[in-house]
Amino acid sequence: MKMADILNGDPIIMENITSGIANAGGFEYTWRYMTTNYTRFQIATYGSALLHLMSYILIASPSIIFRYIPFMDRFKIQQKPLSGANEMKCFQLLLLNQLIIHVPFYLGAHFYCELANLPFSYETMPPWYVTLAQCFGCLVIEDTWHYFSHRLLHHKSIYKYVHKVHHTWQAPHGMVAECVHPIETILLGVGNMWGVLFFGTHFILLWAWMFVRLLEVIDVHSGYNVPLNPLHLFPFYGGAKFHDFHHMNLKGNYAPTFIWWDKIFGTDIQYKEYYRLKKEQEEAKKQK
Ligand SMILES: [Zn+2]
Ligand SMILES: [Zn+2]
Repeated sequence: MKMADILNGDPIIMENITSGIANAGGFEYTWRYMTTNYTRFQIATYGSALLHLMSYILIASPSIIFRYIPFMDRFKIQQKPLSGANEMKCFQLLLLNQLIIHVPFYLGAHFYCELANLPFSYETMPPWYVTLAQCFGCLVIEDTWHYFSHRLLHHKSIYKYVHKVHHTWQAPHGMVAECVHPIETILLGVGNMWGVLFFGTHFILLWAWMFVRLLEVIDVHSGYNVPLNPLHLFPFYGGAKFHDFHHMNLKGNYAPTFIWWDKIFGTDIQYKEYYRLKKEQEEAKKQK
């Protein structure tokens, strides 16, 4: 259905929309309401920016709240105290990246939607399991891009100019996920786009992928290795313990999501050795 038809106020079309919305429930109602009342431009730009911001705060909140719950200390990976100055730097970087990188990125997302003629309607939306499988494909592609780009960012001739900013936090927490130099936001952001360009058949993938990616990147920076984390249902998922080691050690474990690239190139050797020795020490303590 074209937006022009809706705006012309054709009574039959308007009645169909109204009855469609009235009969729908939950997600369907919200989606139909949104696509009826807002333009594609508004949804792709303002809608995406709002969803990103809200999802970021929502997903990062538990790891912030956990700090005030003594019971959760047993799941904390590193016991380093937080610095107030670092917290302020993180907040400033998040704001800067939102303004100079994310806003133009969402404008680009709108142009892509128009160029690819990506449908927005509820009727053309693929089933949830197709979108979930597409998100998994996006994760695999992004993880590959990120692994090699991340190794490049650690090259001694460029490390101090860009990636050092992200390594301000040796013991990360959820909010640190996007606390990176703007150049890094662009370089790693490119990896988020390949999957959409490859699998994109509906606008829903942009939002579903954005949410899945935030869920993953905030989880690996949470600083907590909480049991029964559903993200570990993804095969070969590294998780917080895996990425936390990268922040602590500054070397190895370069992939953000899966463990296979580090396994193939042997960049997880120090990580395995560290936990082998830690386990040995704990067993020796128990025997005393
Ligand atoms: Zn790094
Ligand atoms: Zn990190």
